[in-house]
Amino acid sequence: MNFYRKYRPQTVAEIDTTAIRVALEQILTKGKISQAWLLTGPKGAGKTSTARIIAKILECEKNLLKPQALEEPCNQCGACRAIMNGSYLGVVEMDAASNRGIDDIRQLQERIGLAPAQGKFTVYVIDEVHMLTAEAFNALLKTLEEPPAHVVFILCTTELKKVPETIVSRCTQLNFDKASQIEVKRSLGRVVDGEKLTVEPGVLDLIAAGVDGSFRDAIKLLEQAVDETGTVKLIRVEPLVGQGQLYQVEELIRAIKHKNAKTALVLVAAKEQQGVDLNLLVVKLVENLRSELMAAAIVQKPEPKQIEALTELVERLSSASQEMKWSPLIGLPLQIAIVKWCYLPGETVIEPVKVEPVSQAAPPKLQSKPLQLAEVEGKWSEVLKKVKPLNHSLEALLKAARPVATADSWLTVEVYYTFHKEQLEQERYRAMLESQCSEVMGAPVKLRFKLGQKTAQAVAAAPKEVVNVTGRVKDEDLAQAAEEIFG
Ligand SMILES: [Zn+2]
Repeated sequence: MNFYRKYRPQTVAEIDTTAIRVALEQILTKGKISQAWLLTGPKGAGKTSTARIIAKILECEKNLLKPQALEEPCNQCGACRAIMNGSYLGVVEMDAASNRGIDDIRQLQERIGLAPAQGKFTVYVIDEVHMLTAEAFNALLKTLEEPPAHVVFILCTTELKKVPETIVSRCTQLNFDKASQIEVKRSLGRVVDGEKLTVEPGVLDLIAAGVDGSFRDAIKLLEQAVDETGTVKLIRVEPLVGQGQLYQVEELIRAIKHKNAKTALVLVAAKEQQGVDLNLLVVKLVENLRSELMAAAIVQKPEPKQIEALTELVERLSSASQEMKWSPLIGLPLQIAIVKWCYLPGETVIEPVKVEPVSQAAPPKLQSKPLQLAEVEGKWSEVLKKVKPLNHSLEALLKAARPVATADSWLTVEVYYTFHKEQLEQERYRAMLESQCSEVMGAPVKLRFKLGQKTAQAVAAAPKEVVNVTGRVKDEDLAQAAEEIFG
């Protein structure tokens, strides 16, 4: 079953349009329900679903048993289930577009005189009611003026203006305005929870911003974007939204980089008018510029001025993104950031970086190069020097260890006691050592430790705190010593 049908609201509480939900909740509380309804609003706004919910409230066996109160439909009883699958005889759905003449309404008038075929009421749902002819409207009006006690009309229309005022004034009106982005997100949220989907940040915002208030389009889009693992990725949603180009920022970035304030501001204003979520827009700007900054920082000969300018720009836009959360005018912090940046003194120094771009999420990488053992040995004392102020005991341990082999970015360090090895292999020490080694070697270093032969030399080199005065070293003694060193 497709998501839209599966997740149609089935109760008042599930209706995503806030105004409609609140109005119906009040009606439930009052316990009195109108005999004539007019549901107006665009396609896909939830009129049909709401009409069925009203029918279920009227016919639910739970409510029939206690007529003085109205509750949410149970969705379990025979009436509820039959209404949901469209087989309930007490609900007559007709389309005014194809039954628009006076004869159709006359037939209807004859029919409404009959007792309900099922349940307490007969509910007539007339879709596209504005299509009725003038004569048919007149006949309908007479029926609405004095409806039999067992009849309820639910009229639906996308064009309220074409429905005569005399009809409108007889009905309890529910206006389905175009759904807000918050309402669309609420409906998407029901699907996400129900299907246990994993959704990347920004996905629901992007869909909600791109469907022009249609629940149906939003849910269809979500369904299309789900991958086989039940994940919805931004990268899959963007092209589907169809307005993906609205979120493309290349042109805007170009204008900002060239300090062309006018073009940049015009582009931002245009995007805002097209309904682009400016929060998302600024995140995309920052993401793009961050990639450039990373690329600029890892080239052989970085341009300090260029890096400085990019950093400045990224910082300004990040701050704007933060401020936008609190600003009364959402676009203002972005606009101010652009203006201030463009009027900064100095010429344009941001030119395209001439290296392959790094992937968007990649942190700045050290140039990867195979480690050379001789080089590591030569710089080993430097490593010890860097470690000493960070952890004195660790430095003492390393004095009793030596680099013995390299392979790509792996460095094997030989130690002579099991407990040394165990200590060094502890994640917190290893991570610290790896980062210090990487810094000294100017390349990523991954460490592994191996247990070597106890030579006299090695024992002599071991930290004196852990060497037994007799010169004979036992692992048990060392364990004791280690306790003292590492606490
Ligand atoms: Zn029920």
